[in-house]
Order: sequence, then structure tokens, then C-alpha cells
Amino acid sequence: MKKYVSFLCLLGLFSFTITAISFGAKPKVIKTLIVDGQNNHDQWPKVTAMMKQFLEQTGLFSVDVQRTKYTWNGGALVNQYKISGVPATTDLPKSKMDSSFHPNFAAYDLVICNFGWNAAPWPAETQADFDKFIKNGGGLVVIHAADNSFPEWPAYNQMIGLGGWGNRTEKDGPYVYYDENNTLVRDTQAGRAGSHGPQSEYAITIRNPNHPITKGMPLTWMHTKDEMYDRLRGPATNMEVLGTAFSSKENKGTGRHEPMLLTINYGKGRIFHTPMGHVDYSVACVGFITCLQRGAEWAATGKVSLKIPTDFPTATQSKSRIFTE
Ligand SMILES: [Zn+2]
Repeated sequence: MKKYVSFLCLLGLFSFTITAISFGAKPKVIKTLIVDGQNNHDQWPKVTAMMKQFLEQTGLFSVDVQRTKYTWNGGALVNQYKISGVPATTDLPKSKMDSSFHPNFAAYDLVICNFGWNAAPWPAETQADFDKFIKNGGGLVVIHAADNSFPEWPAYNQMIGLGGWGNRTEKDGPYVYYDENNTLVRDTQAGRAGSHGPQSEYAITIRNPNHPITKGMPLTWMHTKDEMYDRLRGPATNMEVLGTAFSSKENKGTGRHEPMLLTINYGKGRIFHTPMGHVDYSVACVGFITCLQRGAEWAATGKVSLKIPTDFPTATQSKSRIFTE
């Protein structure tokens, strides 16, 4: 009997040790780089600071920022949310290529693009390096107006799947949406790419609840006030629509369900793209934050360990977090 008890004790100690080891094992930190500097949205420096904080809060990411030398818009916010080591804004009225912009992408697991409409093209060598980084399995997150950027860079259009503005039309690929029968449509008819009605709160409908990013989310949840991009077009290859929002004609929309959560595969790389995130109150949405964190983890690793938070929005109520530096 005594022997049996000590055996049980030993077994207990053994499994306790194993559990402690597996719980104590820290997951590998995801080395992340946010790139920004040229964006038609004045709040881009604040949005970068918010994303950096929301990602680092999880304990899963370490986030650096690399900014173009010639920044524009953002004015005072560039200084308020100045990233150490980043040159002060020159606030050029127009986009100007920064020939020195050449991040060491290979040193990271994940890149987040916070460029915007009319951003100057990156130098050819930087583009080629970035292409190689994604093809080799690097992760990418694309938010809001970053899908307006670089319309003449074919690889970038492949990576983002769908884009808007920048003279994009049917020449750049189909307009992808869900119709009233919940069928995914790839519309190749002639037309513009990118528009939006006035900002509003809107509901996100999950189209694939089994993807690591969306698993466990309510099938419908309310997003805080934001622009709702519509009529996005692009190559849309190796792309999956995980979530949509209904663009109502009453709100100057299309009467269609527009893609809001997208994944794309490019080479060995994974991309998470959301057209949400116009300004600070859109990015402070708990739904947006959760999608950003989980989308980033998925893009970097192919898996998601981050849980759906308890303050996640419901079908009828949006939820926000307060951002303080
Ligand atoms: Zn916007």
C-alpha cells in the first residue's frame, strides 16, 4: 500500500512537472515591423501607435516602426506619436519617393502596412526585397487605405487581393462581393474600384467561422463607426473572404455584402487584409483589435493562440477600448 501511494505521489509530481514545463514555455515572440509615412489619412501616426500597443499588449509581438523620410499629412500627430529614431516630418504637400527607404524585412516575421492612398512607390530594390520576404513565408497585415497604395506594383496587388482607388478598374481584376443569396460573386464587368458612403457603425458577418482568425467569434458583431469600403477590385487569387458587411443603398452603398476580413496566400507567405480602420475610434473597436491581433498571429505563424476577449462586441452592441500612451 505504502509503495502504491509513493508511486502515485511520484506520478503526480511527474505530471505536475510536465504541466509546469508546458505552461511555462513562452511562445516565440513574433518580430513585427510597421511601415508607414505616406497616407491620405491625417491620423496615420496615431493609428500606428495604437496598433503597436494593441499588439505588444498580448505579449506575443515585439513591434518596430520604420517610416519614410518624406512623410506627409499627419502633421502634429507625427511629432506627438514620434517613434524613436524616426526623422521628424517634412510634411510635403505631395508624395515623394524616399530612395533611402529600405527596411531589413528579412529580420522580421511580420510586416504591417499602414501606407495610404497616393503613397509614393517604394524603390525597386525595396519592392523586390519585400516580394522575396513574403514569397519566402513572411507575414503581412494590410489595413484600410493600405489597399489604396501602390496600384502599379503587380506583386503588391496580388498580396492585398483586392484594392481601391489609384485608377484601379476592371483592368485590375474582378469586383468581389457576396450577393443577396449569400453567393460569392467575382464581377468582371467594367467599373471603378473603391468607394464608400458616410461613416457609420456596421455589422460584420462571419463567412467562415472555422478559420483560425474567426473561430469562436459571434457570427455577427457590431463594428464601431468607420468607413465601409465597397467595390474593391483586384487579382483576388488564393484569397478567402472571412467576413463581410452589408453596404446599404440608403447609406450611399452598393446593396451588396462587401469583404471586410480577407486572407490571401502569396508564395509561402500569408496575408491578412481588412479594409476597416479609418481613424482612431474605428481602430479602438474591440472587434478590430481582436482581428488585428489574431490576423497578425495567423499571418506570422499560420495558427492563432489568442482568445476572443470577454469584451468582444455583440450582434447589437459595438465595444471600444480606451487608448492611452
Ligand atoms: Zn479612410
